[in-house]
Parts: sequence; C-alpha cells; structure tokens
Amino acid sequence: MDLQSSVEKIKGVGPETAKKLGILGVESIYDLLTFWPRRYDDYSEVLPIKDIEPGAVTVKAQIESIITKRVRRGMHITEAVIRDESSAIRVVWFNQPYREKYFKTGKEYYFSGLYDFSFNRYVLQNPTVEESKEFTANTARIVPIYPQTKGLDSKIIRKTISEITSMFQELSETIPSWVSEQYDFMSYAEAAYQLHWPENQTKLAEARERIGFEEVFAYVLAGQLNKKQIEDEVALPILFNQDFAKQYTKTLPFELTPEQKQCSWEILQDIEREHPMNRLLEGDVGAGKTVVAAMAAYMASKQGIQTAIMAPTELLARQHAVTLANLLEPLGVTIGLLTSAVKGKPKEALKSQLEEGSLDIVVGTHALLQESVTFKRLGLIVIDEQHRFGVKQRQKLVDKAEKIPHILSMTATPIPRSLALTVYGELDISIINSKPKNRLPIQTNIWSPNSRPQLYQIIDDEIKSGRQAFVVCPLIDESEGSEVKSVNEEVKRLKKDIFKTRRIGTLHGKMKDDEKARVMQDFADKKLDILVSTTVIEVGIDIPNASVMLIEGADQFGLAQLHQLRGRVGRGEYQGYCYLVPTSSQKPSKRLRAMESTRDGFKLAEMDLELRGPGAIYGSKQHGALDLKIANISDVALIKNAKKSAAIFIKRSDNLADYQELEKRVQKSLSLTYLN
Ligand code: ADP
Ligand code: MG
Repeated sequence: MDLQSSVEKIKGVGPETAKKLGILGVESIYDLLTFWPRRYDDYSEVLPIKDIEPGAVTVKAQIESIITKRVRRGMHITEAVIRDESSAIRVVWFNQPYREKYFKTGKEYYFSGLYDFSFNRYVLQNPTVEESKEFTANTARIVPIYPQTKGLDSKIIRKTISEITSMFQELSETIPSWVSEQYDFMSYAEAAYQLHWPENQTKLAEARERIGFEEVFAYVLAGQLNKKQIEDEVALPILFNQDFAKQYTKTLPFELTPEQKQCSWEILQDIEREHPMNRLLEGDVGAGKTVVAAMAAYMASKQGIQTAIMAPTELLARQHAVTLANLLEPLGVTIGLLTSAVKGKPKEALKSQLEEGSLDIVVGTHALLQESVTFKRLGLIVIDEQHRFGVKQRQKLVDKAEKIPHILSMTATPIPRSLALTVYGELDISIINSKPKNRLPIQTNIWSPNSRPQLYQIIDDEIKSGRQAFVVCPLIDESEGSEVKSVNEEVKRLKKDIFKTRRIGTLHGKMKDDEKARVMQDFADKKLDILVSTTVIEVGIDIPNASVMLIEGADQFGLAQLHQLRGRVGRGEYQGYCYLVPTSSQKPSKRLRAMESTRDGFKLAEMDLELRGPGAIYGSKQHGALDLKIANISDVALIKNAKKSAAIFIKRSDNLADYQELEKRVQKSLSLTYLN
C-alpha cells in the first residue's frame, strides 16, 4: 500500500464504502489522509462521575445493569446504570437495542455524550461507547467530525482512517524547511495526523496554523511567481497620446467620473510599458467599465494595434459591440462582432479583415478562440467577467497576439478585500466604486410570499406607466416536491392567472443562443413587458427602461449574485425597485436583510465570504480551486507571513519542482486567477 493506492486497499473498505468515499472526493490513501474534519467535538476530558456537570461529558465506567424496553410501536429504549469508583449514573439509548448485548461485565468503557435533564431526571443520552484502551477514535478525545454522505458517517470515516495511521509518516513536506524552521512549524505529516487525531487543543491549533499557512502560501507564491514572469515578458507598447485622449473624452455624451479617469490613467500608463499589463478592472454593474476599456482600445487603434474583447455570453458580447460602436465609430474606429451566431460570408469577411488589420476591435464570445481566427497585430485583450473563462481559453486568445498582449480583465463581482489580498494579491487592480451621478439608488425590499398579490399590483402599475419588469426564478423547470420557483412554471402561472394582458417573455440558460438573443432584443425593443428569467440576466443586460425586478426564492442566491441581479434595473433615468421574495414566509435571514440595508457590493461580498466561504463569491466551477479549507481568509498576520516567505522563496531561487504538492497547488491557483 502506498499513498496513491485506492482506499479499497484499506481493511474493512469494500467497493460500497469506496464508492461513498468517492462521492466525498476521496479515492486514494492520500486523499483520505488529507480529508480534513469539518469540526470537532471535544470529549477529551474524562471525569469521575461524581464531578460531571450537564453538557458534553466523558466518563470511564463499567456497566452495572442494562435492559431494553419496547415502549411503542417499534420504539426501543435501552436503559443502563454505569458506575466508576466515584459514583453511578443512568444512561439511555433510543432505538439501539443491540447495546444490551454489547457490554461485558468487569470491563471498562468510555462513554461520551450529552448529560442532560430528560423525563424528570438527569441522564447520559445516547452516548458513544468504546472499550477503554490507549487509542480511542470516538470517545475520550477531541473527536473529529467529517463531511459525510448518505451511508457514510463520521464513525466509519474515523475507523477507516485509524486503519492507516502508519501511512501519515509517508506524507512528504509541502513547504521549504527554512520556512518551517522560521515559524517553528510541526512537520506536514504530524500536522495532518493532529488534524485527524488531535492530542489536545494546543496541538490542534498548531496543526491548523501549519496547514493554513501552506494553503495561503501556495496562493501568494503563485501570485508572486506570475508577477515576476510577466515582468520578464515583452509586450507591444501602446503609447499615450494626449490629443487622442482628449478627442475621446470630448465625443462622450457625458463626463467621466473621477474614478473612471483614475482607472483610465492607470491602464494607459500600464500599456505604455514594454511589459504586458495584467490588470483587473473592478466595478459594479453599470459603473462604467466599458467606457474605460474603450479608451485603451481607442489608443491602441490609433497605433495600428488591434484589440480583442471577449465576453462570456452572446448577449453580453452583442451589447459591448453596440456600446463600443456608439463610442468609437464616430472617431473612425472599426468594430466587428464574432459569436457563434455569425456564420458564412459575414464570418469569412470579418476574419479576413482581422487578418489584414482593417478591423481595429473585435468583440466576441468563445468563437474568438477558433483556430481560424487570426490577427494582424493583436496587442490588447479585454476579458469581461474573466472568472467565467478557464485558463486554457484565455491562453488561446493570448497566443493569437503579437508578443505577449496587455490584458485587462473586467469584473462586476466585487472581490472582498481580504480575498483580494490573498488570491489576487499580485494582480494590479483598478476599482470604480461609484456609479455615474445621474442614477437613483435602487430601492430593495423583502416581501413575504403571502404578499405577492400586492407586489403584482406594483409591477402592473410600473408597466402601466411604460416601464418593464424582470421576474427572476432559481430554477428552469419545476422540481418535484420543492417550493422553489421555476421559470417555466412561473411563466405559465403569470400568463394564466396574474398578468393576462401583459406580454411575457422567457429566458434561461437551456435556450439556444439565437433564441436568447431574440428574446433579449424583443425586451430591449419594448415588445415584452415582463421577462421571466433565471440568472442568465446576471451579467450584461442593459435595459434602461426596466425599473422593477422581482426575485423569487431570493434566499437561494448568494449576496454578491443578488447584488449583480438588482443592478439590472434602475440603469436609466427611472427609479429602480428590487423585491426579494424568499421561498418560505419565515422570518428573513440576516443575510437577506443585508440586501435591504446596504448598496455596497464590496460589503455584501465580504459578508458572503464570511458566511458561505470563497465559493459563494464565484461560480461553482471555481469553488474547488478557491477553497481554503483550514486557513481563515481574514487572518491578516497569516497572509503577511505567507507573503514574506513567498518573496524569500523567489529571491533564493528555490526550485518549485522540488516541492511536488506545492507545485500542484501553485498551478491550480494560477489557472484560477491569472492570465499567463
Ligand atoms: P459596466 O460595464 O461597468 O457595467 P457600462 O460601461 O456598460 O458599465 O456603463 C453603463 C452605462 O452608463 C452605459 O450606458 C454608459 O454609457 C453609462 N455611463 C458610463 N459612464 C458614465 C458617466 N461617467 N456618466 C454618465 N453615464 C455613464
Ligand atoms: Mg457591463
């Protein structure tokens, strides 16, 4: 047996258990050794019976008497009296009649459980029992509680891990020894062991510190390595020209906000250099990022350098193309759109324009990545909602450029500062934190499901005065036995019972791209009053006439996501309203209430991060990669130390290949965050 062996090699693990472990992502011995507990129950203090107090207790005792009674249909109660040298207590187990046969007289056992008042007296309820011996897995210790799945509880996982205790020592170091020495860390093998079988709370804390360090270390090292690599690369400089900048701002129908000016300046300075820019432009939906990106693209076009703008959806690409055409065509810039819907002759024409350089800017979706798409002189890449693309996809576009292109990633997902510090630590970030002045802040309110009739009246009134509405549902199709609303059911219901005379459209991710585009166009052209949709409208829809959004099953969404959704209304001159309707009429959660009280996307993202972890901030695709399992992301000292060590690692020119695990993690982190 070695670390790579299948868990089936372990004593007591058959195909069934192996399959269940597989559901938890555990396939090899290594996976199991690094399958960290979710939390712990501290049953480590063994007390004489006379000293125990109500709460979680462990005692070491012998069985004095035991009897099982059938109380009601199929219901068993096993009652026992257990005794140690100091005293005796009663124990009850519900529906565990096998307990009666388990005990041997004269033998000592550990009992760990809740000592509490029940049926008029104090009893030890449903305690876990284990024969008293040196190593116990389930009692008389800090007991690990694992993520579990149906038919595979923590007890089985503990048993399985206890069978391979000798394998811990095979785990190799994951960080350089000079780092371990500096912080007086225990070895990786020891830390892993202590996480499963903590000797005491101090050792557990030390183990968590050690493992947490390496998690963060991998991220920040990835960031620093990437930065260094990019600084060594050569890009096409896009020189700043004041006249062109003035020309651009003069043709805008509005004045740039101070933040837009600041961000533009940061970008224009970056792309002047001979080294590629790798910058993230963050700003709420509607903050005006596109206008900023367009200025850089304009500057490039004036120097015969092409720009590619890639967006995750057809809708978004289309919209960007329109926005850019409005902004830049008056200045003589040529703009094309390439999505999978563009086919045949127009597509061929577009491709040859790109190849010969007569097209300055191309906006598109994944279609841009096709091999047959080539550029004369691609020097600037703008990626909207960059986290929706994989590293391979981004790389494909980068490979089409002359030298290494400048890259501007844009995102409307506010990245909490603490996360930015770790995961995005070495990425240059520009932030637009305020919206253009003419916007009225969106009013957000939680409404109970019972008050839908009034809500529908409000929506109808808005429509009457010429506005349009979104209704967002968590699901596409109805799901058996669930209260959660689906688009298809809701459309039927609204058409039939509620908005009989209104024009209602449907939009969801399972529809074909051209179908989606058509519905969106109809909505934009005011041929629809209500659009019932899933979160596909989350990014990129600009319908200034839409003033109200009803979000069904609001509790099903993350805060960052809700915030993005509501940014779809109130984009024009009209007051925007967002109504959040939770699935049930219970008191709304604190989390949801935060949506009413704050409009700060960063704050909401920070809350999401705290309550639901990094996965909540991004799509599920990236969940795994972003998971800091042990490290606390708001541990500033930890992050600082990890950064310091990463800098030393690079300065010493330590070889990453010497640390296999670390290298793997660094690669994973790079694929998540960076454009290389
Ligand atoms: P984002 O890409 O950040 O979601 P956009 O760049 O699409 O935002 O801008 C949203 C809308 O606001 C667009 O219609 C744009 O023309 C407008 N806009 C952008 N900047 C300003 C500004 N400084 N003043 C007024 N309107 C602006
Ligand atoms: Mg946008």
